[in-house]
Amino acid sequence: MARQAVTLIGGGLVGALLAQLLATHGFSVTVFEKRSDPRRLNFARGRAINLAIAERGWQALRTAGLAQRALRMSVMMRGRMVHGRDGTGSLQRYGLDDSEVIWSISRSGLNALLVDAAEEAGATFHFGQTLVSTDMDTRSLSLMDREDVPRECEAGLLIGADGAGSALRAAMDLYQPLGIRVEPLGHGYKELEIPPATGRNRFAIEPNALHIWPRGGYMSIATPNINGSFNVTLFLPLHGTYPSFDTLRDAATASAFFAREFPELFPLMPCFADDFDGHPVGKLATLYLDRWHIDGRAVLVGDAAHAIAPFHGQGMNCGFQDAVALADLLAGCGRDTAGAFAQFQQVRKPNADAIAAMTLENYVEMRDSVADPHYLAKLELEALLTQWAPEYFMSRYRMVTFTALPYAYAYARGRAQNEVIEQLLRDFGRPGDVPQNVAIASLQQALPPLQSVEDPAIHPMHAAALSRFAFFEA
Ligand code: FAD
Repeated sequence: MARQAVTLIGGGLVGALLAQLLATHGFSVTVFEKRSDPRRLNFARGRAINLAIAERGWQALRTAGLAQRALRMSVMMRGRMVHGRDGTGSLQRYGLDDSEVIWSISRSGLNALLVDAAEEAGATFHFGQTLVSTDMDTRSLSLMDREDVPRECEAGLLIGADGAGSALRAAMDLYQPLGIRVEPLGHGYKELEIPPATGRNRFAIEPNALHIWPRGGYMSIATPNINGSFNVTLFLPLHGTYPSFDTLRDAATASAFFAREFPELFPLMPCFADDFDGHPVGKLATLYLDRWHIDGRAVLVGDAAHAIAPFHGQGMNCGFQDAVALADLLAGCGRDTAGAFAQFQQVRKPNADAIAAMTLENYVEMRDSVADPHYLAKLELEALLTQWAPEYFMSRYRMVTFTALPYAYAYARGRAQNEVIEQLLRDFGRPGDVPQNVAIASLQQALPPLQSVEDPAIHPMHAAALSRFAFFEA
């Protein structure tokens, strides 16, 4: 039987992974990607140079047989290193120990790896090809290359992995309204850099952490790269009174702001002025759609279907789960692609909605709460409940980051657990004063046991990689 043809728009992270999975399942896959080949050219400056990858992302990469190769390009992050105004820094661990960590990986390196793997599996990539318009009736595409040379072609099954500004989504919406809603966050981001240090330790600050300088209403974060540099991101309101991107118009104003608000970070960025003036301000928004597909003709995945803000570090992780789910459904559906697309939306949309909501909550937590005494008391009690009642309590962050429990489950369970925690703190004041038996009884009364959780114990793949980091142990 002839192999079914699939046409993917967008060969970014999700598109390239999906191309590899579908080609491995025997589909004939063609990818049209607007940018140049990521193996030849660097990405645009100032656009999310690295990303945090967590268990959901690793699971998808393990499915594709690429996890070991990706791990070799990653730097472990044990937790948040929170930097106060007084120059102090304290590590808030993400998990219980080094079996529960996240990893910082280069976007361009990972994209190149995924494109290589998809080609090895038989997918064909056409770079420098931008989708301009789509005739949904005939499934014919109009594309344009970098020299404005047009190209027309017939598509197979159409999949839009063309990111938050998806051109395929726009065409689908014209054909049949998808119920698109974009909720701007009112905040934006600017990317800066701490270069590698000279000397034995290549890293200018602790490498195995995600650094946060929370300042209430805005913040900077820094994440490590394998070459010793850090990607620094300033998150700030776009408009309004100082400080906002409107009021920090150039490097001179921004330098004074940085020197005052982030005094230990500022001297580590010798190229601050060039980076600030040269990099664009990225705008953050959440994208919701009522429908992700048009019968069996076309479907959207990843950011094209559900772009979220970056505050939980889950956009790519969530998109990778989409890719695995869609590839499996298409491989098992025979010719009922409409059924597969509908099931894909049914399974994934509630989870995409849940991670969107949790992401917005995490922004408030990162910029405002990480140094707040009530928040710290909750963290302390969470740690106790984790020890006392592991079958009834797992923090929401751990569910999202270190398991593949559905996001919707983590969201609902997290809310119910939070009510128990708030009540215990109201009743007993400090976490240390909460009696163990009362805490366990409260959890058991309020909640069923946790859904079977995949063993969060360290994956053998990570165990080997962690030995690389012995040097940085305290
Ligand atoms: P994209 O990565 O946007 O890829 C879309 C591709 O389609 C691109 O290659 C683009 O060139 C191509 N394309 C676009 N239009 C066309 C067209 N008309 N024709 C042809 N091709 C086209 N996620 C995490 O999991 N962890 C993180 O730590 C994290 N940090 C982030 C930090 C920031 C500042 C931002 C903005 C996002 C972050 N994310 C993170 C989210 C993550 O970047 C996205 O969720 C992820 O890139 C989505 O992948 P995608 O393939 O769906 O879309």
